[in-house]
Amino acid sequence: MIVTCLDLEGVLVPEIWIAFAEKTGIEKLRLTTRDIPDYDELMQGRLKLLKENSLKISDIQAVIKEISPMEGAKEFISWLKTKFQVIILSDTFNQFAGPLMEQLDYPTIFCHDLIINASGEITDYKLRIPDAKTKAVKALQNLNLKVIAAGDSYNDTGMLKQAEAGILFRAPNNVIEEFPQFPVTHEYEDFKKIFTDMAKQL
Ligand SMILES: [Mg+2]
Repeated sequence: MIVTCLDLEGVLVPEIWIAFAEKTGIEKLRLTTRDIPDYDELMQGRLKLLKENSLKISDIQAVIKEISPMEGAKEFISWLKTKFQVIILSDTFNQFAGPLMEQLDYPTIFCHDLIINASGEITDYKLRIPDAKTKAVKALQNLNLKVIAAGDSYNDTGMLKQAEAGILFRAPNNVIEEFPQFPVTHEYEDFKKIFTDMAKQL
């Protein structure tokens, strides 16, 4: 039995924080896991910017409501579900994921939580567990399942390495260059083909 573990942002939906940066005009909010390997450093920077600009959870959720999955993403997930078990492993937050999951027909997703006070200010974040993606893959393997993982950023490379097979999808050049061991694809049709070929070899 093969389980496929997919990243969310950059693979199935656009980067939420980039959309929010564009809406607010705060350039520094454009930084993502594609740019900064240390997730805590990235999140502390985001929390500071939200506080400085008096931005609340409702401001981000309003932007997320306008985000649609990438063209072809929903069809891709539907296809993947006919061939394998599918789990989305994301470093986003439950408070962000809802409207996007609705548009993808509610796939299984494991992500994290934001800490929000009574005024709707995001005061902190709580990882479900550190290095959650890699640990999820390990746990699945302990259940005697084989895993093919796919993602686009630094925060995916742990799970890509841990999995029996890993794929980079629409990854930026810095990630592709640092992790030359993984096949790279930019289109869903080609992505399907790589999943099928890898599964045959497991
Ligand atoms: Mg990503």
